[in-house]
Amino acid sequence: MTSAMAPPSSVTVRVPAKINLELVVGAPRPDGYHPLSTVFHAVSLHDEVTVWPADEWGLTVTGPQSLGVPEDGTNLAARAALLLAESAGITEPVHIAIRKDIPVAGGMAGGSADAAAALVACDQLWGLGTPRVELEHVAAEVGSDVPFLLTGGTAMASGRGEVLAPVLARGTYHWVLAVSEGGLSTPAVYAECDRLRGDRPVPDPAPTPEMMTALRSGDPRALGAALANDLQAAAISLMPALADVIDAGLEFGAIGGIVSGSGPTVAFLAEDNESALDLAVSLTASGTVQDVRRATGPAHGAHVVSGVRAR
Ligand code: ATP
Repeated sequence: MTSAMAPPSSVTVRVPAKINLELVVGAPRPDGYHPLSTVFHAVSLHDEVTVWPADEWGLTVTGPQSLGVPEDGTNLAARAALLLAESAGITEPVHIAIRKDIPVAGGMAGGSADAAAALVACDQLWGLGTPRVELEHVAAEVGSDVPFLLTGGTAMASGRGEVLAPVLARGTYHWVLAVSEGGLSTPAVYAECDRLRGDRPVPDPAPTPEMMTALRSGDPRALGAALANDLQAAAISLMPALADVIDAGLEFGAIGGIVSGSGPTVAFLAEDNESALDLAVSLTASGTVQDVRRATGPAHGAHVVSGVRAR
């Protein structure tokens, strides 16, 4: 009873990383963007974003993956919070504290995840109750991966990745994520993809029947065989060592392996939890990658884990 009247203190939101189970890339449009057909899958590597009222706007980043993350207005979480404030006519500044565990510039959309988390956190702190469709609209303005990180689970996406559609997907999947040293710039990977394609005609992107059937079946082996990424050749061209990482994971028993998004993280699918553990140990011992993480998917999208209702 008292909570509804209590002054706001802080709100913490947990948000997952994503991998792309399938990424089909079309030819660049006149505005430079590539039309996509993709299947997003949220996995259980999480960042946490906490917001509280402050005298002025501020942002801090801590946690195991904080290196190289901007602490100024270019941080996607700050951009998201400011956009929501603007659209809702809010003038009260907040401090945004990000605890990062999602690898940076790894093709796992960590920045977009923080933006989605900041939207959910600020919406709650300011007591806005923004309708979902409006929150998704603001999310898409921040970046094309942000709406999916609000939703989580497994979803199909088109456009630039911001137009989401549900997909019938069964099962829980066990992933081993091989994180390479140094990131890959997303625009550089798209440019390399165009360069490698040259003048070849590129069909309009569409989901493949193999992926849809695999997701419906819930069979990890079918999913492992259906994993596909049009950016993989470009990521390997820019970082040739990725080919060795993929070979190593498959040799150590992965039932599928794919560069996640624009890379360089490689997502390996394991048959079950025990196989994932074995695979993670072998990959770590091989010394081919900087870091090895285990995760399951699908995971929930950005959600409040602690906080108050502001009004
Ligand atoms: P995507 O898969 O969406 O292409 P990514 O996972 O490859 O993205 P991010 O971790 O989102 O890459 O970060 C890419 C760049 O964005 C970073 O190098 C950093 O300069 C900037 N950035 C801005 N905000 C954030 C944030 N909250 N967390 C991480 N990086 C951020």
